Amino acid sequence: MSRPIISGERMLARLQSLGQIGAVESGGCTRLAFSDEDGRARDLIKTWLEQAGASVTVDSIGNLYGVVQGLSSGAPIMTGSHIDTVARGGQLDGCYGVVAGIEMLQAIRDAALQPSVSLAVAVFSNEEGVRFSPDLLGSRVIAKDISLEEALATQSRDGKSVAGELKRIGYAGESSPWALLPSKFIELHIAQGPCLEASGTAIGIVEGVQGHSWWEVVVQGCANHAGTTPMPLRLDAGVAAMRMACALQASACLERLPAVATVGTFTLEPNAINVVPGLARFTVDFRDAEDGQLREADLLLRSEAKKLEDLGFMVQLSHLSRALGVRFDATLCDTLQATATSRGASTQRMVSGASHDAQMMATLCPTAMLFVPSIGGISHNPKEKTLDEDLVAGAQILTDAMWSLATTA
Ligand SMILES: [Zn+2]
Repeated sequence: MSRPIISGERMLARLQSLGQIGAVESGGCTRLAFSDEDGRARDLIKTWLEQAGASVTVDSIGNLYGVVQGLSSGAPIMTGSHIDTVARGGQLDGCYGVVAGIEMLQAIRDAALQPSVSLAVAVFSNEEGVRFSPDLLGSRVIAKDISLEEALATQSRDGKSVAGELKRIGYAGESSPWALLPSKFIELHIAQGPCLEASGTAIGIVEGVQGHSWWEVVVQGCANHAGTTPMPLRLDAGVAAMRMACALQASACLERLPAVATVGTFTLEPNAINVVPGLARFTVDFRDAEDGQLREADLLLRSEAKKLEDLGFMVQLSHLSRALGVRFDATLCDTLQATATSRGASTQRMVSGASHDAQMMATLCPTAMLFVPSIGGISHNPKEKTLDEDLVAGAQILTDAMWSLATTA
């Protein structure tokens, strides 16, 4: 049975043209959500979707969809990402997943094929959250993580509302954000980190997105003279805090508990060369895809604090923030891996360190992600780059997977 084969050349050329909207020097792009540039980029995406035979709709938070009807009715299988960027971002973050999705639809049309179930490409509003916070705004509304009213009323720092800006650029759509809920969602994205390139792997099968648990720790000891206080009689808050930091780092390194742990700020008082520190204050950033692992890491932090208290220190722990990790669908991950393998691509299971619209879609339907390598792991930077052959391979694997889901479903 014939299946759609993408044109790598056409997809790469389209990525280039999209990157010209809001282009900055050295190949980067500034296209903040709901700006004039966002509006012009949406116009271009709409044209390409229509050329690919898709019917285009826009919902009331500005999410844009292109749908190719299947032979039977029912919820579509969806792919997609975002086309807004950070200030001085790259040309691939988000755009790659959208342009690859359009290429999939175009390849289906070129081969005169029709899927059994409908296929959709989504362009989610304000993924980056730079001009309007929170991030993932469009997919957050679909997932009911934020209400539509609250999202539309969100103000930018320069006093503009999402509702007003959507209207101004012509993308205040009329359809409901819940009119097109998919049965499955797959997002293709650049890795944005160094792991795939470092291991020489072509495709990352993303099993989830990391959550975090953030703490502030204050260790109180006794400030004293650095010359006259004998070592056994010190209550050195600095050394105590460093021991705790090292224990957390060792746990992440040796036990992967949690996946990564970072002490990113560290201050001492009185912070003088000839005084034993009386107080140390530092922050802890734990990240892991598994919420259980994060909770174990929290317990580890408490037990390390207890060890210091047993030595006579006072330790104050303040929990600053928590976000749950997200697990993608295991069956869909297996499908993506088998698809990549059948194309001869090497694969690696991984967890995303960055947020993606897919994590919101995962609350609604079986969801997974595919990553392609980022050269040097650089992203949110004009230097963001992926080899052309990797971009083309990733898009064909997405197309293969979507097509087989849409014809066997
Ligand atoms: Zn992105």
